[in-house]
Amino acid sequence: MLAYTYVEPGRFALLDKPVPALKDPGDALVRVTLSSICTSDLHIKHGSVPRAVPGVTVGHEMVGVVEQVGSAVTAVRPGDRVAVNVETFCGHCFFCEHGWVNNCTDPDGGWALGCRIDGGQAEYVRVPHADQGLTPIPAGVTDRQALFVGDILATGFWAAKLADPGPEDTVLILGGGPTGLCTLSCVLLRGPRRVILCEADPLRRRFVRAHYPQVLVTAPEEAEAFVLAHTPHGGADRVIEAAGGAGSFTLAWRCARPNGVVTVAALYDEDQTLPLPRMYGKNLTFQTGGVDGCDCGEILSLIAEGKLDTTFLITHTFPLARAEEAYALFERRDDGVMKVALVP
Ligand SMILES: [Zn+2]
Ligand SMILES: [Zn+2]
Repeated sequence: MLAYTYVEPGRFALLDKPVPALKDPGDALVRVTLSSICTSDLHIKHGSVPRAVPGVTVGHEMVGVVEQVGSAVTAVRPGDRVAVNVETFCGHCFFCEHGWVNNCTDPDGGWALGCRIDGGQAEYVRVPHADQGLTPIPAGVTDRQALFVGDILATGFWAAKLADPGPEDTVLILGGGPTGLCTLSCVLLRGPRRVILCEADPLRRRFVRAHYPQVLVTAPEEAEAFVLAHTPHGGADRVIEAAGGAGSFTLAWRCARPNGVVTVAALYDEDQTLPLPRMYGKNLTFQTGGVDGCDCGEILSLIAEGKLDTTFLITHTFPLARAEEAYALFERRDDGVMKVALVP
């Protein structure tokens, strides 16, 4: 089968590999029907994910059909259409029992698919802990609607849940890329008074204005003044930092009002500074982390009910055989690309 593979730092290639076999009773084999390219794949390509293993098939955002299940799998059956979770987790360790599945202590726990074990930019993928990692897609929900459920939508849903804005709150979201917009969609479901989105790229700002007319849009250089002008108490009640760029962490806490909450969902390439003397007296609360992706059933229900739809983020679709071209476009951000879907 075709499998897009991390060969060595700086190089991915489309290789011919055998269809994976089940290894453990909790495994399932999924025939991938649609996958996508994520910024994290580029981090692997550039060698900034030390845990990524050369030779691994990349891809951790996908949907498909269950082909085969191990003897211990009870939640899905062959023939089921499923969303695959980016995180594999055992479901019964201390962290899983608290819903903190990102820190599952199982050897395959956390982000393993498409990083430490073969992922889904391929025709088939073996999913360990399938009872936890696969969620049946409701009838009426398309592959394109379900594509982001296991990764960027899970992240947006988690960040919105963590920030937990109330009806009187103004929420500032930093970052208008795919994860920022999934976060925006999930924040809007919570009905805050006002949402402001800050994005550096003018093309992306235009994209946000076109798809979210109810949201105020600003740019990093004007964000502080803009937020002050649109909030009654000297800043946003909740700030969700989903940009992860140079200066975006500083902007996040500077735009928060005193006693506000700053939720950091971004993944940085470099260390960030928490200048406590400069923020003394502002009495901020910081929340940080990586997604606990265990709400996929709820996210799929919201999609099935028509409350959540992120299909417009798929701006480009390529056959898997043209993965190299698709990556080049995604990496250069050509042609207004937001997300690229790959069809095996
Ligand atoms: Zn990802
Ligand atoms: Zn666990």
